[in-house]
Amino acid sequence: MLVQVAFIVLTLLIGLCVGSFLNVVIYRLPLHMSLLKPSSHCPNCEYKLKWYDNIPLLSYIFLKGRCRNCKTKISSRYPIIELSNMALWFLALMLNTNYIIPSITTNYLMFALTCVVFSTLLCVFCCDLDNMEIPDEFQLILLLCGIIAFLSNDISASYRTYGFLLGGGFFGLFALLFWLIRKREGLGFGDIKLMAVLGLFLGFEKIIVCIILSTISGAIILSILSLKNKGEKNKEYPFATFIVPSAIISILAGQYIVNWYLSLFAVV
Ligand SMILES: [Zn+2]
Repeated sequence: MLVQVAFIVLTLLIGLCVGSFLNVVIYRLPLHMSLLKPSSHCPNCEYKLKWYDNIPLLSYIFLKGRCRNCKTKISSRYPIIELSNMALWFLALMLNTNYIIPSITTNYLMFALTCVVFSTLLCVFCCDLDNMEIPDEFQLILLLCGIIAFLSNDISASYRTYGFLLGGGFFGLFALLFWLIRKREGLGFGDIKLMAVLGLFLGFEKIIVCIILSTISGAIILSILSLKNKGEKNKEYPFATFIVPSAIISILAGQYIVNWYLSLFAVV
């Protein structure tokens, strides 16, 4: 029991610290900057952050969200990403170990992979929102997680292969049709690659849930936005911001959604 509590606390703390590092990755990777140098500093006054200015969450609270030196406001996005990553790691723990829900079979490999996938998806979400671009490094990490999951054989390998083909194929076909009909790009190649690598990790059934959730949420929100921006007919929108939450829901609850759906057709 004590070991389990320690493991949960450790997961939360490391999740928070990794969240802090993700802030650096999200800012620097799209600019092709080194992730290690220069050390963190205030973008306004160049004040170099001391170690005690860099404690995840706590420093933000103690400094009341302002730079220690020039008092410029620090974006609330930093603690939000730290907390989000911590929450996602906790959910990964809940999903893959019997520490919180005793009926779940513990699988440490899937726990570790799910943490990596969640953190990477958080970066994809922010980078696509900021720059309308998904750096290839994130796609590679997701692909690697998918391959390790594929080799671990925890679900049938063919399930993951179909997931890969369906994820990439569905969005690829959609992009092709959109291009043929509208003569312009409707979906970026980055989104297609993202769905393919996610399909490998999620498997056949969960990627269907992810496709449905992302296309429905995307269609509704993008329709509202394009009605608002009538003047800008060909305005582009970051579609991965719909794929990421859909993928997270599919990882967490995909199986329940599939079972519920299938139960509607079950013979009583
Ligand atoms: Zn400053």
